[in-house]
Amino acid sequence: MKKIAVVMCNDMHMDIERSNVLLNHIIQNGSYEVVCDYTIADIVIIQTCAFGEKKKYSVQVIADVRANACSDAKVIVTGCLLSINNEELDALPGIEVKSFEELISIFQQTKTDFVSKIVPQNRVIISEGCLKKCSYCVYPMICGKYKSKSIEDILIEVESLYDTETTIYLTGAQETSDYGIDIYGKPSFPNLLQKACTQFPNCNYVIGWFHPTGLTDEMISVISRNKNVVEIMLHIQHISNPILKSMNRPSFEFTDGKIQKLRELRPDLIISTEVIVGFPGETQLEFENLVAYLEKGYFNDIGVASYEQVLDTPASIMENQIPLEIRQQRLNFIKDKFGACVYPTSNNYEMSVIEEYIKAYSFFETLPRTILNDSQKYNCIAGIDTKTKLNLEDVLQEVSEYISITRSEFDFQRNGSYLKEKYTLESRSLFYSIFENGNFKEGIKLKAKKLLLDN
Ligand code: SF4
Repeated sequence: MKKIAVVMCNDMHMDIERSNVLLNHIIQNGSYEVVCDYTIADIVIIQTCAFGEKKKYSVQVIADVRANACSDAKVIVTGCLLSINNEELDALPGIEVKSFEELISIFQQTKTDFVSKIVPQNRVIISEGCLKKCSYCVYPMICGKYKSKSIEDILIEVESLYDTETTIYLTGAQETSDYGIDIYGKPSFPNLLQKACTQFPNCNYVIGWFHPTGLTDEMISVISRNKNVVEIMLHIQHISNPILKSMNRPSFEFTDGKIQKLRELRPDLIISTEVIVGFPGETQLEFENLVAYLEKGYFNDIGVASYEQVLDTPASIMENQIPLEIRQQRLNFIKDKFGACVYPTSNNYEMSVIEEYIKAYSFFETLPRTILNDSQKYNCIAGIDTKTKLNLEDVLQEVSEYISITRSEFDFQRNGSYLKEKYTLESRSLFYSIFENGNFKEGIKLKAKKLLLDN
């Protein structure tokens, strides 16, 4: 039986959903064994992402897999990256490029008794695509038409989670407020939400990725009637009208009015938001005004991203791009002040897919084939080893911390066992060689040796 691994380059709703569908077909096809470790697989499918930094990450994952998979393994690349970089991907050595639909047709089987969720999630993805055209965002270009599932199908999915989940996320893969336009001729999320709350009342609902334009009176009324709608993720992005206009998003007055109304009717509702700092032309004063607005406390949870110059988007060719250093400062300021969740800042994606691939490939050739032990990998979805390699700095940081906190024999036993269980001998030897050859005191080198190799 051939071994097959599916490696995901992101945890976007739609991609998890697609992975579930694909893995279902593969498992029920009966001719393949699904494995988590791509280094032993005969076929490795890489699900890529094309958004900002994730594009770079996806290319690095391809390079890692190609460098460490069996030499005769078939490596198939699918996902969003195909939509914008198909030709470059085609040029990479030892890679096949296939759309999601092509893969399904290869592995398709006729049985319908699918395993419900392979990658665990309590989310119900109600649609794919986005009809909005935010000037900084590449999704509308790569995701194709908006596609909603029917209300009936969504309610069946909600029902399947109802017995086991106390909270269910209802969300579009990219955008929720346009739900239903394609199949019912008008935005129909309020109708769907009301039906879910009526038929399945004993669980909480969280609404994901909701564009402020969807906060109609009907939507506000459904939320205020149903107290088990506990959270909405409403991304405001900014409060400066000139910036919002450049972003191609609704004015501040529109969004603020809706938020005030929601707050008045449902003071208990969790409203989380996300803002972008360092958008082209953002002045210091506009940034400070944004901070002052966030200080008012309307939001229970804040995420902050620094603007990223994503190729092919209208914003990427706007004048007055803000230097990376200032974007980073503004991001850090909001992170520190509000404890905001941060999306990494990138210095823009400058290398082509091929250049990035060549650079990453030579790096991964020097690393151990696997970093994690199987017991760690099998707790996670495929691809975790790649993720760990790409965050090697974080791994080394962890190892350094263990070295610095280890004092007694008891610590050596406990911490050494932990590291031994988590990382392969090959990777612990690599970590040790970094300490051995680095500019460290002898005591640290001895500790590192004892912790990483002697236990
Ligand atoms: S609403 Fe979201 S997914 Fe759609 S274009 Fe704007 S940022 Fe992108």
